[in-house]
Amino acid sequence: MTDSSGNTASIINLYGQALSPETYDPTPEMVAIWGKVYDLMREEFGEAVFRSWLKPLALQACYHGTLEVSVPTRFMKDWISSHYSEQILKLCRAQDSSIERLEIVVVHGHVAAPESAAIEPITKLPKANLNDLAAKLDLASPLDPRFTFETFVVAKSNALAHAAACRVVECNVPFNPLFIYGGVGLGKTHLMHAIAWEMKEKQPDKVVMYLSAEKFMYQFVKSIRAQDTMAFKEVLRSVDVLMIDDIQFIAGKDSTQEEFFHTFNALVDQNKQIIIASDRAPGELQGVDERLRSRMSWGLVADIHTSTYELRLGILKARAAQLNVSVPDSVLEFLALKITSNIRELEGSLNRIVAHADIAKSAITLQSTQEVLQDLLRTSDRRVTIDEIQKRVAEHYNIRPADMQSARRARNVARPRQVAMYLSKQLTARSLPEIGRKFGGRDHTTVMHAVKKVEELMAEDTSFAQDVEVLRRTLIG
Ligand code: ADP
Ligand code: MG
Repeated sequence: MTDSSGNTASIINLYGQALSPETYDPTPEMVAIWGKVYDLMREEFGEAVFRSWLKPLALQACYHGTLEVSVPTRFMKDWISSHYSEQILKLCRAQDSSIERLEIVVVHGHVAAPESAAIEPITKLPKANLNDLAAKLDLASPLDPRFTFETFVVAKSNALAHAAACRVVECNVPFNPLFIYGGVGLGKTHLMHAIAWEMKEKQPDKVVMYLSAEKFMYQFVKSIRAQDTMAFKEVLRSVDVLMIDDIQFIAGKDSTQEEFFHTFNALVDQNKQIIIASDRAPGELQGVDERLRSRMSWGLVADIHTSTYELRLGILKARAAQLNVSVPDSVLEFLALKITSNIRELEGSLNRIVAHADIAKSAITLQSTQEVLQDLLRTSDRRVTIDEIQKRVAEHYNIRPADMQSARRARNVARPRQVAMYLSKQLTARSLPEIGRKFGGRDHTTVMHAVKKVEELMAEDTSFAQDVEVLRRTLIG
């Protein structure tokens, strides 16, 4: 019997005396009991779970109320311990009430069932060779020098993902994998690059590899064609930190998924950090194998919500400072209010305004901004009227249209009214005081408050955000 470090484990009795192996070898009765439990596990957990996780379990020993079973990898041990061990113990106790504990140990070289997460025996490359080989295979994707922690603006909507990213740099594998997901242009790639840069600086001896799932697939297929998958596998399984961006790309690509699954297991098993970015949650990755989905959600899953007005304004201010141009606050505020879906687009619009002013040798004003961004803004100014917005929103939330103007402050009325104010600001060219007037003569600060409130809620509550987005689409569509 060996433990995870490969040493022979010695069992000590209450008096500190080492027990001889015979004392804890399973008796024939125990073997029979385990046989029953083994069959019961299949019924209890279902065929899929049994095959993926429980099939390789093997009876090792039995001593003083402890039943010891083994698995081939640490990864499996951790997963079974946290998900199934309590129920397994119950099954054991139903057979023999003298069993008090279940102990799962790792026995390397233990023959795993073929369906299980088999780790292919691949030699680990020395660091120097690894970097050479990785370069030769053109595996890694380049890192954008602008995507660092310094340039990343933190707000409520991305705080969790940011904190998780920092922990990954500071601690050694705090959770595995780190799974970051969120909509397009919300900063997932930026965060991953930031981790990579920081790691390179703080832990230069570690081999960090960042690549898109697309590249993973491309290089994997290429290696199959060249009949040299060994080098591909070797490199990927020898890195210290593996980051895969846009994992949603592997949906439906079965052999790539399988290869990724093996890479994933091999790395987790060596306690190497894996970081994954996706446009949706692991459970929502249709076309991705159930086992892989469940494994990807095993570490920390951090989502980035839609941005808030504050975050967008913060990013614009930082960007303007980086570009070393002075842009009036009114212009930045205007952009932060109008361009809400995607930060890439937001930055792009600022770049355009700055470039335009530079070429035209003119100052940046609200007027020139509206002119330069005409095409961008038109989609959202498609002659939607405040009346229309009020009517749609009232219908959607099933309240009376008159409640848009009424003084009633009950939540079920006030919230839809705030949503309507928010959409009026977003979708029409009306000023805050004008909007206020349309809502029963309210003050412009009330409108501003409503806009902020709705943005905050959208950042906190994904279903609310989707609700508002649906309304927005139907109005402009
Ligand atoms: P994603 O990978 O989620 O689609 P990116 O990471 O490519 O999005 O981000 C799109 C653009 O927005 C990039 O230029 C990035 O620097 C910028 N960006 C996104 N979030 C932030 C943030 N919180 N602070 C600063 N820039 C950001
Ligand atoms: Mg990205």
